[in-house]
Amino acid sequence: MPSNDPDKNAAPPLPEPLRVPVADSHTHLDMQSGTVEEALAKAASVGVTTVVQVGCDLKGSRWAAETAAAYDAVHATVALHPNEAPRIVHGDPDGWSRQGAREPGGQAALDEALAEIDRLAALEQVKGVGETGLDYFRTGPEGMEAQERSFRAHIEIAKRHGKALVIHDRDAHADVLRVLKEEGAPERTVFHCYSGDAEMAEICASAGYFMSFAGNVTFKNAQNLRDAVAVAPLELLLVETDAPFLTPVPYRGRPNAPYLVPLTVRAMAAVRGIDEDALATALGANTARAFGY
Ligand SMILES: [Zn+2]
Ligand SMILES: [Zn+2]
Repeated sequence: MPSNDPDKNAAPPLPEPLRVPVADSHTHLDMQSGTVEEALAKAASVGVTTVVQVGCDLKGSRWAAETAAAYDAVHATVALHPNEAPRIVHGDPDGWSRQGAREPGGQAALDEALAEIDRLAALEQVKGVGETGLDYFRTGPEGMEAQERSFRAHIEIAKRHGKALVIHDRDAHADVLRVLKEEGAPERTVFHCYSGDAEMAEICASAGYFMSFAGNVTFKNAQNLRDAVAVAPLELLLVETDAPFLTPVPYRGRPNAPYLVPLTVRAMAAVRGIDEDALATALGANTARAFGY
């Protein structure tokens, strides 16, 4: 799109409503414009009646827990994002994150932050621990140790509280699967913004991991994701926005929000060659089972 396109930053129009309600299994309402009420009303108007609000740092995790306590349609997950953990340990002099520059806090600061995540994970409205995992795209070799240590700690917290584990896996498939195996995955584990191929989907399927697909499944260059949608067991499929990121086609590049889930549901139904209502029925039930609500 040319940079002078007047629609570039405009919210895409409402899609045609789903007839069977689904959940957005992974969103960041705190990074979207407008109020929570507006986002939930807009989503509900097209059949997206539930959202899972995902925490990425202490502030966001506290906010997720508070928001889930205030709204029946919102469930929370809490965590230090895989790119957040190394920042806590090593500092972030450039302050590229939305929190700005930060002094190195060392191992002790990470332990302290993890203790707070542990406390939040005990709350009733907190249904999952995540997003956690490994991100080799944004975190360089110097941050990998802190990242993996944090990932292992989140797995332990999820298991001890009996909550779902929400995995963020960017360019780190083999190591994410290895750490899960070494630690022993929680009973309910979700690969958010699933980014593997069909072969990895078979591995996830045999381990019983849920695979949550985001708007990038509609991107032209994402045949690997569509291949994964095609082979994943229906009962392990979830849908998400990861909003405000990854807006589905034809609105790629514009701001994403939970009300755009129907576009991704329709793309997934087309890939599997099944009826939209049948897929939505499965997605709704799967998300409730994955997060235990
Ligand atoms: Zn993520
Ligand atoms: Zn996310």
